[in-house]
Amino acid sequence: MKILVAETAGFCWGVRRALDQAVDLAKKIDGPVQTFGPLIHNAQVMEELTEQNIHPVEQVADIRGGTVLVRAHGVRPEMFDQLRATGADVYDATCPLVRKVQKIITKYGDDGYDVVIVGDDHHAEVAGLRGYTKQQCFVVADEKEAAQLPTFDRVCVVSQTTQNDDTFARTVEVIKEKARVIRATNTVCEPTRDHQRETIDLAKQVDLMVVVGGRHSANTCRLADLAAQEGARVLHIETDAELQKGHFEQCATVGVTAGASTPEWMINRVVTKLEAFNPETTSRLTTWLNHAMGVLVASNVYVGLGAASLTLAASLLLQPTVGREQLWPLLGTAGLFILAMHTVNRYQERSHYSGWGTFSPRSFQRFQQIMLWIGVLALTGALGIAVALGWNEFLALAAFGLLGALYNVKLVPLQWARHIMGIRRIKDLPASRDIATALGWTVATAIVPLLTIGATSSLRATGVLGFVFVLVFLRSALIGVRDVQGDKIMGMETLFKVVGKRRTKAVLISAVATLSILLLGLTLPWHSLPLAALLFLVVPYICTVCVSYHRRLLPKGAAGEILVDGQFLLAGVLALAWHLWR
Ligand code: SF4
Repeated sequence: MKILVAETAGFCWGVRRALDQAVDLAKKIDGPVQTFGPLIHNAQVMEELTEQNIHPVEQVADIRGGTVLVRAHGVRPEMFDQLRATGADVYDATCPLVRKVQKIITKYGDDGYDVVIVGDDHHAEVAGLRGYTKQQCFVVADEKEAAQLPTFDRVCVVSQTTQNDDTFARTVEVIKEKARVIRATNTVCEPTRDHQRETIDLAKQVDLMVVVGGRHSANTCRLADLAAQEGARVLHIETDAELQKGHFEQCATVGVTAGASTPEWMINRVVTKLEAFNPETTSRLTTWLNHAMGVLVASNVYVGLGAASLTLAASLLLQPTVGREQLWPLLGTAGLFILAMHTVNRYQERSHYSGWGTFSPRSFQRFQQIMLWIGVLALTGALGIAVALGWNEFLALAAFGLLGALYNVKLVPLQWARHIMGIRRIKDLPASRDIATALGWTVATAIVPLLTIGATSSLRATGVLGFVFVLVFLRSALIGVRDVQGDKIMGMETLFKVVGKRRTKAVLISAVATLSILLLGLTLPWHSLPLAALLFLVVPYICTVCVSYHRRLLPKGAAGEILVDGQFLLAGVLALAWHLWR
């Protein structure tokens, strides 16, 4: 079964913008952020936002001061005064494309034109738009309802931003017959248009179209209707839990699209589950492999192995003659410490876990307490071995562990934070997630070995620390591009969030160049390290992963994760080969 996923599936630009505003605001203020109505129609995202102290309120009467954010749909203009009258600080996240429609209605309304909105009368955006004219205002869903309209002297016609071009055009034709002067502006927004166009194209190629999104979400329902009009069987679901294998019997090709309120991690969960249904992958061996990969990745054992591998490479770069009896505890400390750190992180981010292989989100929920205990035991083990290595090693790990524990704690008082871009926690510092991850790995896999076995020169030590830091930073930045939606909702500060897509690409290219220069430095005559030359193989590997990711060739789920972290394993295998061959 072939699975085709729409590139435009998921959050639209306006929804992303409103979510960013809400999350940024929640960091800067002390109390909750009250959104006037739910920011989006998605229960999972709303739960996550509640944890960030962002709560929806439905009525002005429910607001008792504090902070209120108007969502992307916008509101009637007088509503801003009513909200301010409650004593609240009011912020506006109305999508600029909705604001454009409000301005058109105001302009023609002021010139005495009546207004017709082609859209859903019960939708919040339409309710807000109605408030921008003092003239007569009608809402019609389509040409049939337009036929019931009275005649007009002068009329302005606009569309709800998530309407459909064809419906708008047909409705305008009917209204033309009823008006002396008509000013029609198609205000369907470009993201909606792209989304609908791609859904129609996809629906023509598939046997069944899975549309993911709220059953009450107007734009999701419209996508489902458009796909059905193209003759595709349509399955409209809200979560992956609704998928059953029986739905896909005799389906050669399945398409997946999602409404503007559906987060990417939910789309990933759906695709992961569909892949598990795939008859081509249900042979016993592939099922077993899929499950094994899922367990390795979900339990963080894989990332722990990666840390141990990187430690082997770093230790041999620092001190080529290091003995095996010194290597084993170093590998153990690093592997356990990184496993523990990632387990705690995954526990915090569990709500948007999309599943790996057959290790589904439900399996994760079932085992989350056990995994947390594994994390605690791993941390205890790592610190115990570090004590045996020496107090400096223990203090280095413990200091970073403490930094990790304080990562999410509000350390700066609110009145000071207002002067420093709302930064209250370490987590709020720009790109802190990527820098903290790279630092944590550098401490465990290079600084602890350096403290234990030393280095043949301080220049070599600097080169090795730089190599490890850049290698891990690259991985973290790449994952930040992949998980951008979840990271934003969780309030994670990543490189991608700070500098955007184009500059992240430039930083990734610069990081690969820096990595090559560092390795070159480590191979120069005064270091004469053949291992550094061998480690150059890691560079084309990373480039291949980055390019595959950019071209959407990287598999989703556990296999993708194994490939992204494969650079550490590769470095370890190369180091081991050199160590044995020497
Ligand atoms: S659907 Fe269009 S108008 Fe509405 S929030 Fe998204 S981008 Fe803005």
